[in-house]
Amino acid sequence: MARVEVKVPQLSESVTEATMLPWKKKAGDAVAQDEILVELETDKVVLEVPAPAAGTLAEVVKKEGDIVHADELLAIIDTEAKASTAAPAPAPAPEKPAAQPAQPAQPAAAAAAPASTPAAASGQKADFDVIVIGSGPGGYIAAIRAAQLGRKVACVEEWINHAGKPKLGGTCLNVGCIPSKALLASSEQFEKAQLHFGDLGITMDNLAVDVDKMVGRKEAIVEKITGGVEFLFRKNKITWLKGHGKLAGKDGANFKIDVSGDGKSESHTAQHVIIATGSKARHLPNVPVDNKIVSDNEGALAFTSVPKKLAVIGAGVIGLELGSVWRRLGAEVTILEALPEFLGTTDAALQKEAAKLFKKQGLTIHLGVKIDGVQTTDSSVSISYQDKDGNAQTLEADRLIVSIGRVPNTDDLGLDSIGLSADERGFIPVDGHCATKVPNVYAIGDVVRGPMLAHKAEDEGVLVAEIIDGQKPHIDYNCIPWVIYTHPEIAWVGQTEQALKAEGRAIKAGQFPMLANGRAMGIGETDGFIKIIADAQTDEILGVHIISANASDLIAEAVVAMEFKAASEDIGRICHPHPSLSEVMREAALAVDKRALNI
Ligand SMILES: Cc1cc2nc3c(=O)[nH]c(=O)nc-3n(C[C@H](O)[C@H](O)[C@H](O)COP(=O)(O)OP(=O)(O)OC[C@H]3O[C@@H](n4cnc5c(N)ncnc54)[C@H](O)[C@@H]3O)c2cc1C
Repeated sequence: MARVEVKVPQLSESVTEATMLPWKKKAGDAVAQDEILVELETDKVVLEVPAPAAGTLAEVVKKEGDIVHADELLAIIDTEAKASTAAPAPAPAPEKPAAQPAQPAQPAAAAAAPASTPAAASGQKADFDVIVIGSGPGGYIAAIRAAQLGRKVACVEEWINHAGKPKLGGTCLNVGCIPSKALLASSEQFEKAQLHFGDLGITMDNLAVDVDKMVGRKEAIVEKITGGVEFLFRKNKITWLKGHGKLAGKDGANFKIDVSGDGKSESHTAQHVIIATGSKARHLPNVPVDNKIVSDNEGALAFTSVPKKLAVIGAGVIGLELGSVWRRLGAEVTILEALPEFLGTTDAALQKEAAKLFKKQGLTIHLGVKIDGVQTTDSSVSISYQDKDGNAQTLEADRLIVSIGRVPNTDDLGLDSIGLSADERGFIPVDGHCATKVPNVYAIGDVVRGPMLAHKAEDEGVLVAEIIDGQKPHIDYNCIPWVIYTHPEIAWVGQTEQALKAEGRAIKAGQFPMLANGRAMGIGETDGFIKIIADAQTDEILGVHIISANASDLIAEAVVAMEFKAASEDIGRICHPHPSLSEVMREAALAVDKRALNI
């Protein structure tokens, strides 16, 4: 008997158990792939459990009313046995058994000339209403929203993790936002325990870092959250086409997309295409990344020990975050930055405060440098550069992280087959609503203009899915918040004081320090401030700039205010909980009108 296990799917980060509802099938019944076998009820939602394969329900392990946990065995399907009862005929399989892309029906020989499906060949109905290429935060959210709106959706994803397993979630979930924040949290707690617990009246002996455990925890979070996207795909009946997606021209009104992987290839058609292929790390010319001595962001999230001396090229968001992780764990970190200004795109007040605080923490940052060369040995790296005054310098380190930005990813995407091409910087040109010049083809996220941020990609995913649905959504790019997850965190939305002054706009600003806030004192987080800039005449909020603990959460209030075109007086008049860091937002708003209360 060929056994396929039916297991409890990933529930969610916060939900650990579910209750079994009645089985829709009994032992001996025939089941079709993806047919719903049973539902599980959690305190938040009811989840469907689909059959992972077609066959006969050979054994039912859990019964109605049982409490079950993620990954627990529910039943066994025998994929070879005949049904023993007069079970109802399985639900008709979808037009194309789309949920089986990992084992495409075509032989490997078909790779050179992928076959169209019968539907596509006839030039009539497309296999899918929407095919999304890429399942990062842009792509997977676009797929879910399109499915919520009733579209038949597939998402092509080629990501294979270090263990050789196909994964959804893109850069953000696999090697970006989520794992970096997990390591930042571990290192931050370590530093707090080491340097600040004493102030809180807690003493500890034998404090130690276990890098393997920290990295293992990060891996477990990545596994859980990428598994969560798989669950969401199943829940929303989105087909995951595993492999590399390539546009292959048109079949009548529909677009053809070839999907290849594992030596096989198949072809699908769609009425609408959303390109969400993201970005990849920019490398230095002639400096190969071996992830032993020279790493990009991926390698820097998987060090197995703390380097004694760590060099980082690039003092941007990712360089600062990764530099912070390893500094807190004990590395001597030096960051080399080509630009003459530190955090040049942020408000000058943030730049000054951040430079002061990071220096105090022991992060060495050299600005205005020009890298001349990088030499590596088996155990070290030597970086020769010119400092800001043009003097030749050498930096010796055990490891180097190259963090000089990211480039849009359009590798082997077949853009030309439908009359598209990337611009000179590699981005796919789109209008303000993410439409390319080819009708019904959209591009979103890191592969198009605008900030390379996960939440920007997500919002564009929702936008495009709703446009396809005939709605009229809109994104105000000025209201997209930015966050740097150093400690303290740095977050901002809207314009900087320098940019507004350069525009000749009459403004007024208010600033309030965390030092004067009771909650900040209580939690020992008195570094930083919130600054609000408003129009001098109308009082409309034009920019909010935060450096403080929890800035990533505090900024959300500013985003809401700006989306609603609030005045600083609005925030000043809104009741804020006491004691809380959010009171600093209110005080900064009052300070715009020179009437802060607690200073
Ligand atoms: C270390 C690090 C930390 C970060 N931290 C943050 C943060 O804290 N906050 C934040 O907002 N942003 C952060 N970012 C940026 C964020 O990860 C990106 O902005 C975001 O992932 C972009 O989403 P996306 O959907 O456009 O593309 P991606 O997440 O890059 O996903 C694209 C997907 O498309 C797939 N793909 C590409 N081409 C093909 C093809 N032809 N066929 C099939 N599949 C294909 C790729 O395999 C990938 O899975 C961080 C990035 C890094 C590297």
